[in-house]
Amino acid sequence: MSLEDLYREVIIDHYRSPRNREPLKHADTRAEGVNPLCGDEVTVELELSEDGSIDAISVRGQGCSISQSSASMMSELVKGKSRDEIEEVVEKFRAMMDLDGDATDVIDPEKPGSVLGDIEALYGVRKFPVRIKCANLPWTTLAEALERTN
Ligand code: ZN
Repeated sequence: MSLEDLYREVIIDHYRSPRNREPLKHADTRAEGVNPLCGDEVTVELELSEDGSIDAISVRGQGCSISQSSASMMSELVKGKSRDEIEEVVEKFRAMMDLDGDATDVIDPEKPGSVLGDIEALYGVRKFPVRIKCANLPWTTLAEALERTN
């Protein structure tokens, strides 16, 4: 299986079976994001512990496979993490999708998933710059939800 096929399968899997989609009963913060270019919508809800780490996360929405799979993969990646760890992951994801940089200083294309897990499947989206906004939507929405708690 080629790397591109592998990436595609991971994206389709998360799109068809999105993780952490159940709404939270006691969310401490929430935010909604929209990408008008594509019609993508994402809602992020968080339950935070006293030290600010993410105890529980809900992400749901509608839109293209890139935006919705990114939301699902992000939720798996940040769940249970501290604020510092989340910042680190957000920074790495941003660098991976940044066309001004070389993503190979963040992830290792020889070992897919070894740094950021499933979400490295979105690496291939770099070839379609207009879709990067789709991939980024859940992340900017997460950042907004976290900012509201500060
Ligand atoms: Zn989209």
